[in-house]
Amino acid sequence: MILLDSVTKKYPGDSAPALDAVSLHIEPNEFAFLVGKSGAGKSTLMKMITKEENPDSGKIIIGGIDLDYVKKRHIPGYRRRLGVVFQDFKLLPRRTVYENVAFALEIAGMSGKEIRKTVPKVLELVDLLDQAKKFPDQLSGGQQQRVSIARSVARQPKILIADEPTANLDKLTTEEIIGLLKKINDFGTTILVTTHNENVVNSLQKRVITLKDGKIVNDQKNHGIYKLDETPAPKIPSRAVRTPGHALKPRKKVIQ
Ligand code: ADP
Repeated sequence: MILLDSVTKKYPGDSAPALDAVSLHIEPNEFAFLVGKSGAGKSTLMKMITKEENPDSGKIIIGGIDLDYVKKRHIPGYRRRLGVVFQDFKLLPRRTVYENVAFALEIAGMSGKEIRKTVPKVLELVDLLDQAKKFPDQLSGGQQQRVSIARSVARQPKILIADEPTANLDKLTTEEIIGLLKKINDFGTTILVTTHNENVVNSLQKRVITLKDGKIVNDQKNHGIYKLDETPAPKIPSRAVRTPGHALKPRKKVIQ
Protein backbone atom coordinates (compact mmCIF):
# COMPACT_ATOMS: atom_id res chain seq x y z
CA MET A 1 0.00 0.00 0.00
CA ILE A 2 2.91 2.31 0.91
CA LEU A 3 6.15 1.20 -0.68
CA LEU A 4 9.50 2.99 -0.55
CA ASP A 5 12.47 1.33 -2.16
CA SER A 6 15.89 2.74 -1.29
CA VAL A 7 14.67 6.33 -1.13
CA THR A 8 17.32 9.00 -0.65
CA LYS A 9 16.64 12.70 -0.28
CA LYS A 10 19.18 15.43 0.45
CA TYR A 11 18.05 19.04 0.64
CA PRO A 12 20.24 21.57 -1.15
CA GLY A 13 22.84 22.97 1.24
CA ASP A 14 22.56 20.13 3.78
CA SER A 15 25.63 17.98 4.33
CA ALA A 16 23.75 14.81 5.25
CA PRO A 17 20.69 13.36 3.54
CA ALA A 18 17.31 13.74 5.28
CA LEU A 19 16.48 10.22 4.08
CA ASP A 20 19.24 7.75 3.37
CA ALA A 21 18.29 4.69 1.28
CA VAL A 22 15.03 4.14 3.16
CA SER A 23 13.09 1.01 2.22
CA LEU A 24 9.71 0.43 3.75
CA HIS A 25 6.58 -1.55 2.99
CA ILE A 26 3.33 -0.83 4.80
CA GLU A 27 0.68 -3.34 3.90
CA PRO A 28 -3.02 -2.73 3.27
CA ASN A 29 -4.94 -2.21 6.52
CA GLU A 30 -1.83 -1.72 8.65
CA PHE A 31 -1.62 0.92 11.36
CA ALA A 32 1.95 2.13 11.71
CA PHE A 33 3.64 4.77 13.82
CA LEU A 34 6.68 6.62 12.56
CA VAL A 35 8.86 7.84 15.43
CA GLY A 36 12.25 9.47 15.82
CA LYS A 37 13.92 12.53 17.30
CA SER A 38 13.51 15.93 15.75
CA GLY A 39 15.45 16.05 12.49
CA ALA A 40 15.32 12.26 12.01
CA GLY A 41 13.50 12.60 8.68
CA LYS A 42 9.86 11.87 9.61
CA SER A 43 8.36 14.92 7.89
CA THR A 44 10.51 14.36 4.84
CA LEU A 45 9.23 10.80 4.59
CA MET A 46 5.63 12.08 4.82
CA LYS A 47 6.42 14.67 2.13
CA MET A 48 7.69 11.88 -0.11
CA ILE A 49 4.29 10.20 0.20
CA THR A 50 2.31 13.39 -0.50
CA LYS A 51 4.78 14.32 -3.25
CA GLU A 52 5.48 17.69 -1.65
CA GLU A 53 9.12 16.76 -2.16
CA ASN A 54 10.70 14.37 -4.65
CA PRO A 55 13.44 11.87 -3.83
CA ASP A 56 16.91 12.17 -5.37
CA SER A 57 16.84 8.45 -5.98
CA GLY A 58 14.71 5.42 -5.19
CA LYS A 59 11.18 4.37 -5.96
CA ILE A 60 7.90 5.30 -4.25
CA ILE A 61 4.66 3.47 -4.95
CA ILE A 62 1.55 4.56 -3.05
CA GLY A 63 -1.71 2.64 -3.43
CA GLY A 64 -0.39 1.14 -6.64
CA ILE A 65 0.64 4.52 -8.09
CA ASP A 66 4.29 4.97 -9.07
CA LEU A 67 4.99 8.57 -8.05
CA ASP A 68 7.62 8.96 -10.78
CA TYR A 69 4.75 9.01 -13.24
CA VAL A 70 2.53 11.51 -11.41
CA LYS A 71 2.97 14.70 -13.44
CA LYS A 72 2.92 18.09 -11.74
CA ARG A 73 -0.57 18.93 -12.96
CA HIS A 74 -1.88 15.64 -11.55
CA ILE A 75 -0.42 16.10 -8.05
CA PRO A 76 -3.55 17.76 -6.54
CA GLY A 77 -5.68 14.90 -7.88
CA TYR A 78 -3.22 12.35 -6.51
CA ARG A 79 -3.27 14.03 -3.06
CA ARG A 80 -7.04 13.94 -2.95
CA ARG A 81 -6.83 10.17 -3.07
CA LEU A 82 -4.91 10.25 0.21
CA GLY A 83 -6.33 11.31 3.53
CA VAL A 84 -3.95 13.80 5.12
CA VAL A 85 -4.31 15.05 8.70
CA PHE A 86 -2.18 17.88 10.03
CA GLN A 87 -1.05 18.95 13.47
CA ASP A 88 -2.68 22.38 13.02
CA PHE A 89 -5.95 21.07 11.51
CA LYS A 90 -5.88 23.43 8.49
CA LEU A 91 -9.64 24.13 8.56
CA LEU A 92 -11.26 26.94 6.60
CA PRO A 93 -12.05 29.54 9.30
CA ARG A 94 -14.98 31.19 7.54
CA ARG A 95 -16.79 27.96 6.82
CA THR A 96 -18.87 25.90 9.20
CA VAL A 97 -18.02 22.34 10.23
CA TYR A 98 -20.50 21.07 7.63
CA GLU A 99 -19.09 23.34 4.92
CA ASN A 100 -15.50 22.37 5.68
CA VAL A 101 -16.30 18.73 4.96
CA ALA A 102 -18.65 19.53 2.04
CA PHE A 103 -16.06 21.78 0.40
CA ALA A 104 -13.47 18.99 0.32
CA LEU A 105 -15.99 16.75 -1.44
CA GLU A 106 -16.99 19.49 -3.86
CA ILE A 107 -13.35 19.95 -4.91
CA ALA A 108 -13.10 16.21 -5.41
CA GLY A 109 -15.98 16.49 -7.90
CA MET A 110 -18.78 14.90 -5.88
CA SER A 111 -22.34 15.88 -6.83
CA GLY A 112 -24.45 18.07 -4.51
CA LYS A 113 -26.80 15.19 -3.87
CA GLU A 114 -23.99 12.84 -2.85
CA ILE A 115 -22.43 15.54 -0.68
CA ARG A 116 -25.69 16.07 1.21
CA LYS A 117 -25.82 12.33 1.84
CA THR A 118 -22.16 11.88 2.78
CA VAL A 119 -21.43 14.83 5.10
CA PRO A 120 -23.90 13.89 7.88
CA LYS A 121 -22.63 10.30 7.83
CA VAL A 122 -19.02 11.39 8.23
CA LEU A 123 -19.89 13.92 10.94
CA GLU A 124 -21.68 11.16 12.77
CA LEU A 125 -18.58 8.96 12.53
CA VAL A 126 -16.52 11.64 14.29
CA ASP A 127 -19.40 12.42 16.68
CA LEU A 128 -19.86 16.02 15.56
CA LEU A 129 -23.28 15.96 13.93
CA ASP A 130 -24.62 18.30 16.60
CA GLN A 131 -21.83 20.83 15.93
CA ALA A 132 -22.34 21.00 12.16
CA LYS A 133 -23.31 24.68 12.10
CA LYS A 134 -20.43 25.93 14.22
CA PHE A 135 -17.32 27.64 12.91
CA PRO A 136 -13.85 26.25 13.71
CA ASP A 137 -13.09 28.95 16.31
CA GLN A 138 -16.18 27.89 18.27
CA LEU A 139 -14.77 24.39 18.74
CA SER A 140 -12.18 22.86 21.06
CA GLY A 141 -8.84 21.66 19.65
CA GLY A 142 -9.98 18.03 19.75
CA GLN A 143 -13.22 18.88 17.95
CA GLN A 144 -11.30 20.79 15.29
CA GLN A 145 -9.05 17.81 14.75
CA ARG A 146 -12.14 15.61 14.41
CA VAL A 147 -13.47 17.93 11.69
CA SER A 148 -10.13 17.69 9.95
CA ILE A 149 -10.27 13.88 10.16
CA ALA A 150 -13.87 13.91 8.91
CA ARG A 151 -12.79 16.00 5.96
CA SER A 152 -9.96 13.65 5.06
CA VAL A 153 -11.95 10.42 5.39
CA ALA A 154 -15.07 11.73 3.62
CA ARG A 155 -13.65 10.69 0.27
CA GLN A 156 -12.98 7.23 1.68
CA PRO A 157 -9.23 7.18 1.04
CA LYS A 158 -7.45 3.85 1.18
CA ILE A 159 -4.54 5.53 2.96
CA LEU A 160 -4.55 8.10 5.75
CA ILE A 161 -1.37 9.82 6.84
CA ALA A 162 -1.19 12.05 9.88
CA ASP A 163 1.81 14.19 10.83
CA GLU A 164 1.77 14.75 14.62
CA PRO A 165 -2.05 14.82 14.78
CA THR A 166 -2.12 15.12 18.57
CA ALA A 167 0.78 17.53 19.12
CA ASN A 168 -1.55 20.36 20.15
CA LEU A 169 -3.98 18.32 22.21
CA ASP A 170 -4.21 17.36 25.88
CA LYS A 171 -3.99 13.79 27.12
CA LEU A 172 -7.71 12.92 27.06
CA THR A 173 -8.32 14.51 23.69
CA THR A 174 -5.26 12.74 22.33
CA GLU A 175 -6.72 9.39 23.40
CA GLU A 176 -9.99 10.30 21.72
CA ILE A 177 -8.29 11.21 18.43
CA ILE A 178 -6.13 8.09 18.43
CA GLY A 179 -9.25 6.02 19.18
CA LEU A 180 -10.91 7.60 16.16
CA LEU A 181 -7.92 6.82 13.92
CA LYS A 182 -8.04 3.25 15.20
CA LYS A 183 -11.73 3.04 14.32
CA ILE A 184 -10.99 4.31 10.80
CA ASN A 185 -8.23 1.70 10.53
CA ASP A 186 -10.69 -0.99 11.63
CA PHE A 187 -12.88 0.01 8.68
CA GLY A 188 -9.97 -0.91 6.39
CA THR A 189 -7.93 2.26 5.91
CA THR A 190 -4.13 1.97 6.02
CA ILE A 191 -2.77 4.50 8.50
CA LEU A 192 0.67 6.03 9.04
CA VAL A 193 1.07 8.44 11.97
CA THR A 194 4.13 10.38 13.12
CA THR A 195 4.22 11.17 16.80
CA HIS A 196 6.41 12.07 19.74
CA ASN A 197 3.83 10.72 22.14
CA GLU A 198 5.32 7.70 23.86
CA ASN A 199 2.10 6.83 25.72
CA VAL A 200 0.04 6.73 22.54
CA VAL A 201 2.52 4.44 20.79
CA ASN A 202 2.88 2.12 23.75
CA SER A 203 -0.84 1.85 24.42
CA LEU A 204 -1.76 0.84 20.86
CA GLN A 205 0.97 -1.79 20.36
CA LYS A 206 0.89 -1.47 16.60
CA ARG A 207 3.77 -1.39 14.14
CA VAL A 208 6.47 1.11 15.16
CA ILE A 209 9.07 2.31 12.66
CA THR A 210 11.97 4.33 14.07
CA LEU A 211 13.95 6.77 11.96
CA LYS A 212 17.35 8.08 13.01
CA ASP A 213 19.55 10.33 10.89
CA GLY A 214 17.47 9.49 7.83
CA LYS A 215 17.68 5.71 8.27
CA ILE A 216 15.22 3.15 9.58
CA VAL A 217 16.99 1.80 12.64
CA ASN A 218 14.10 -0.18 14.05
CA ASP A 219 10.91 -1.68 12.64
CA GLN A 220 8.76 -3.53 15.14
CA LYS A 221 6.00 -5.16 13.12
CA ASN A 222 3.85 -6.26 16.05
CA HIS A 223 3.27 -5.00 19.57
CA GLY A 224 5.71 -2.17 18.93
CA ILE A 225 6.85 0.18 21.64
CA TYR A 226 8.28 3.68 21.47
CA LYS A 227 12.01 3.43 20.82
CA LEU A 228 14.27 6.18 19.56
CA ASP A 229 17.28 4.21 18.41
CA GLU A 230 18.54 0.82 17.44
CA THR A 231 19.73 -0.30 20.83
CA PRO A 232 17.33 -2.76 22.37
CA ALA A 233 15.57 -1.51 25.47
CA PRO A 234 17.59 -2.65 28.48
CA LYS A 235 16.21 -5.74 30.07
CA ILE A 236 15.84 -5.00 33.72
CA PRO A 237 17.14 -7.98 35.68
CA SER A 238 14.56 -9.10 38.15
CA ARG A 239 16.77 -8.26 41.12
CA ALA A 240 18.24 -4.96 39.96
CA VAL A 241 18.05 -1.55 41.52
CA ARG A 242 18.38 1.84 39.90
CA THR A 243 21.31 3.89 41.14
CA PRO A 244 20.89 7.66 41.30
CA GLY A 245 22.82 7.94 38.02
CA HIS A 246 20.12 5.73 36.39
CA ALA A 247 22.67 3.08 35.48
CA LEU A 248 21.45 -0.39 36.15
CA LYS A 249 23.34 -2.31 38.75
CA PRO A 250 22.62 -5.76 40.00
CA ARG A 251 21.58 -5.76 43.62
CA LYS A 252 24.45 -6.79 45.85
CA LYS A 253 24.07 -10.20 47.29
CA VAL A 254 23.42 -10.04 50.96
CA ILE A 255 25.07 -12.83 52.82
CA GLN A 256 22.98 -13.73 55.78
P1 ADP B 1 11.70 15.36 11.46
O1 ADP B 1 10.35 15.51 10.82
O2 ADP B 1 11.97 13.97 11.94
O3 ADP B 1 11.95 16.39 12.52
P2 ADP B 1 12.72 16.43 8.95
O4 ADP B 1 12.29 15.52 7.86
O5 ADP B 1 11.96 17.69 9.15
O6 ADP B 1 12.81 15.60 10.32
O7 ADP B 1 14.24 16.84 8.73
C1 ADP B 1 15.25 15.88 8.39
C2 ADP B 1 16.51 16.66 8.04
O8 ADP B 1 16.31 17.40 6.84
C3 ADP B 1 16.95 17.65 9.10
O9 ADP B 1 18.36 17.65 9.14
C4 ADP B 1 16.44 18.97 8.57
O10 ADP B 1 17.25 20.04 8.98
C5 ADP B 1 16.53 18.78 7.07
N1 ADP B 1 15.50 19.53 6.34
C6 ADP B 1 14.17 19.36 6.44
N2 ADP B 1 13.53 20.20 5.60
C7 ADP B 1 14.47 20.94 4.97
C8 ADP B 1 14.44 21.97 3.99
N3 ADP B 1 13.30 22.41 3.47
N4 ADP B 1 15.63 22.49 3.58
C9 ADP B 1 16.80 22.03 4.08
N5 ADP B 1 16.90 21.05 5.00
C10 ADP B 1 15.75 20.49 5.44
